[in-house]
Amino acid sequence: MKIEIDQSAGFCFGVKNAIEKAENELLQGNQVYCLGEMVHNMEEMNRLNKLGLITINHDEFEKLSNVSVLIRAHGEPPQTYEYANKAHIHLIEATCPVVIRLQKKIRDTNTENNEAQIVIAGKPDHPEVKGLAGNVNKEVVVVNDPSELDKIDFQKPVNLFVQTTLHPEKLKEIKSNMIRRFRESGYDPSNLVVKNRICGQVANRIPSLKTFCRKHDLIIFVSGKNSSNGKSLFAVCQSINPNSHFLSNEAELQAGWFKHINSVGISGATSTPGWLLEQIAQKIKEHI
Ligand code: SF4
Repeated sequence: MKIEIDQSAGFCFGVKNAIEKAENELLQGNQVYCLGEMVHNMEEMNRLNKLGLITINHDEFEKLSNVSVLIRAHGEPPQTYEYANKAHIHLIEATCPVVIRLQKKIRDTNTENNEAQIVIAGKPDHPEVKGLAGNVNKEVVVVNDPSELDKIDFQKPVNLFVQTTLHPEKLKEIKSNMIRRFRESGYDPSNLVVKNRICGQVANRIPSLKTFCRKHDLIIFVSGKNSSNGKSLFAVCQSINPNSHFLSNEAELQAGWFKHINSVGISGATSTPGWLLEQIAQKIKEHI
């Protein structure tokens, strides 16, 4: 049985950079707190915790002072920086450069002082979306599905921002429905301005993942269960190869999946570590 690991799977550069920054500090013996889960992958989190990384939530953060706290790739709203400044917290800045550019763009749009509404296409509880919305001092509408468009006033212009990991098909669906709603309300759809794009690391993964899924009889897709990028990439696998299985670690492998299979492709989300994909490939070689 042939086993291939998808070369385009694994951490995106934003997550790699954040993990490297944490490791550098920890290896020097410094105590490091991380505000929120560094990466939505329990196996990688266990590895980092063993190195000494302490994950905290916002309530815990606001009780700390005089410590080092890492800001992960998703970024944070300005309020986090204000508190850190007051509490003499040293911030290790690991916000992804793509997210930093996006935060700047939304701040600039906010200060343009026009009547346009700011809409974010993404998940309201996603840290990147919360960080973006925190950069705006007027109402921000967050929509994650075309069924939520009633929150928008289609008699006013819209500046649409997009969560970097949103599925491109979902964005297409939201945009086309917004254009339809503008037309229905008699307002010019050119008043919809899309201010940013889905991250290239995410968008480019989809075509290469589709090609990879076509090459194999069986796809093993490895991701944390709470990774939104993992869920949307797995949906891509299933759409191309219905014989696809989602798992988080090697213990979830089932011998029955591999009967009458000649080739297995192993892929993962942007939050899945390369070492985990290797470990799963090894386990399949040895035990299945
Ligand atoms: S998915 Fe893209 S924007 Fe998000 S952290 Fe990774 S590289 Fe940065």
